[in-house]
Amino acid sequence: MSPEEFRNQGKQMIDWIADYYENIEQYPVLSQVKPGEIKNQLPDSAPLESESMTQIMEDVNSIIMPGITHWQSPNFYAFFPSNSSGPSILGDLLSSGLGVQGMIWATSPACTELETRVLDWLSEMLQLPEKFKSSSDGGAVIQDTASSAALSAILAAREKKTNYETNDSGSLGNLVAYVSMHTHSSVEKAIKIAGIGKNNLRLIGVDENLAMRPDLLETAIKNDLQNGLIPFFVCATVGTTSTNAMDPLPEIGQICQQYELWMHIDAAMSGTAAICPEYRYLLNGVEYADSFSFNPHKWMFTNFDCNCFFVADRSVLIKTLSILPEYLKNQATESGAVFDYRDWHIQLGRRFRSLKLWFVIRHYGVNGLRYHIRQHINLAQQFAEWVRSSDEFDLVTPAPLNLVCFAHKSGNDFNRKLLETINNKGKMYFTHTVINNQYVLRMCIGQTNTKEEHVDLAWKIIQETAKELSYQKL
Ligand SMILES: *Cc1c(COP(=O)(O)O)cnc(C)c1O
Repeated sequence: MSPEEFRNQGKQMIDWIADYYENIEQYPVLSQVKPGEIKNQLPDSAPLESESMTQIMEDVNSIIMPGITHWQSPNFYAFFPSNSSGPSILGDLLSSGLGVQGMIWATSPACTELETRVLDWLSEMLQLPEKFKSSSDGGAVIQDTASSAALSAILAAREKKTNYETNDSGSLGNLVAYVSMHTHSSVEKAIKIAGIGKNNLRLIGVDENLAMRPDLLETAIKNDLQNGLIPFFVCATVGTTSTNAMDPLPEIGQICQQYELWMHIDAAMSGTAAICPEYRYLLNGVEYADSFSFNPHKWMFTNFDCNCFFVADRSVLIKTLSILPEYLKNQATESGAVFDYRDWHIQLGRRFRSLKLWFVIRHYGVNGLRYHIRQHINLAQQFAEWVRSSDEFDLVTPAPLNLVCFAHKSGNDFNRKLLETINNKGKMYFTHTVINNQYVLRMCIGQTNTKEEHVDLAWKIIQETAKELSYQKL
């Protein structure tokens, strides 16, 4: 494709995307296709000869689009958001255009240095302790996901605890990690991958708000120590995925300090709220943490993938993950004057992801970001208030930010039917969780363009559908 043809096609693609955002509310939010429906419309084998962009885009419109669930619809309230924005899409496009592979400083100095700078900005925006800044012993790196960040943290914690022996001799088998029953499943997966073993992962009980109980954590650690095991890692969550529960960071942090455990904080979605001074208290206790991560690709208008992973002592992480084959040796690395980010995560290669983050932060400004976060929280709080004052619905858990967990009073089967009926109508999409055997509806407000009118409509749809189903039952 010549630059001239790319210019023409590219302009059309930007138009296509702009049209998509303008018309996004006309699509059913949840894709309505059946399994295999998309695949069966695609040829069994790749084309031997060239096809035109026009042909390709025709298939995008007719085959691909029906199989899209519209995560960027303002009527999307499912799971946690994975929101995006114009500046982010443009930054990502530029990253693709430059096609840089930023594995080490020398392979594109700007890729490393912009990332370091933007992450220091974020550290300041979140008022993280100085130790997480690149100018101190710590620093930060962009990873693909919170899952990879948790795995990196667990590996570094493992090596620190075993004096870097495990890397050399294989798993020792008596390390123990601690999470709550509501910690994200990615941590359990990382514990398996890291060779710690699922049997050495303790699921600590929670209080009435579903937050980890520090007293039970300490009891479990003592118990394991008595049995000759080696406690090494705790993951505390700021905003659990199921209900947005907040683990008590200061209490957990003090226990980690006392028993010399690595404290990782997973703030995947809710960490973003802490850029607003009035929600910064959510991170009180982060000063105890050895690592902290959150996802701008969830609630900070930066399209997937973008996780920011902060460590207090980068030397531990680097010592754990560094490998230097001959073909990557270079003067800048040997001088020690630069960061080589391939030593900060699992994979070698890396995209220029800081561009989109830089575009987003500069486009909105910190105050602009705060404005949108506050809007989302206000809308969710308004929704929670409607639920609280309704005769048909109950609020099931506290709604500290932008997630509301609620249920119709008519029981599990009714709520299941309600969710399914509404999602099949296609006007909005939300999901569920189960808490103490109760089927609970989850409404998470965090799409970039969600406004009051959308949340009004959602509440109307939920109430009306519940009425319809109640009549049917009678
Ligand atoms: C979404 C989520 C994750 C996983 O995020 P990925 O970036 O997709 O790996 C981890 N922890 C919490 C609390 C989450 O909400």
